[in-house]
Amino acid sequence: MEMYLDSQGLGEPITEQTPTDRVIAWTLRRFAKQRMVITTSFGMEGCALIDMYARLNQPLTVIYLDTMFFFPETYDLRDRMVERYPQLEFVNRGTRLTVEDQAKLHGNELWKTNPDLCCKLRKVDPMVDAMVDVDVWITGLRRSQSVTRANLRLVEWDWRYEALKVSPLFQWERPQIWDYIKEHDVPYNLLHEQGYPTVGCTHCTAAVAGSKPGEYSRQGRWQNSEKTECGLHGGEGI
Ligand code: SF4
Repeated sequence: MEMYLDSQGLGEPITEQTPTDRVIAWTLRRFAKQRMVITTSFGMEGCALIDMYARLNQPLTVIYLDTMFFFPETYDLRDRMVERYPQLEFVNRGTRLTVEDQAKLHGNELWKTNPDLCCKLRKVDPMVDAMVDVDVWITGLRRSQSVTRANLRLVEWDWRYEALKVSPLFQWERPQIWDYIKEHDVPYNLLHEQGYPTVGCTHCTAAVAGSKPGEYSRQGRWQNSEKTECGLHGGEGI
């Protein structure tokens, strides 16, 4: 069993069996002097996690990467999150490469001709820039989201971004997340009620027939290619 000791000797040691609310309180205490951020794509997991942190009313930065290809519903959700959680600072660290300039440099519809490059330019490179000053990185990742996340730990070192990565929801399942969202009236993307289990860029996200908000699937992403992840999480995506 892994143990993550509190350097100030306060409270009980944190393990992977510690309840999520205590893990969240621990991160705020343990890393109070470090540069800590939450990153989010405004997925359901991220919204729930942001709510959990906001409840403790401590200043915290939430970073998101606007690819310039968000759905209108995602921008609307971003605005509702900002309004709902004034105690948190929401910062867009998205690409500055305009759609027009990308087309001039790499051709039209790069998301079709070379989606890996498109994700690199609009997600991965901005993420690398955003993480330069970050010591502790809070994510809403879950183990059961994909086989590449199956071995996710509560706390692990991320070599790509050179930051300590903490994933308090690592053992949660989508139905639990949905229950939390409903119970606490957390803002969520209305596309989840229109057949979108996850929501990414407009060009690469489709509805999945029969999908319900409490069910997780990545079927609607990059439907016409072999691609399954954008590469933000060491070969995984948001
Ligand atoms: S998800 Fe699609 S549109 Fe968005 S950055 Fe990746 S390839 Fe480009």
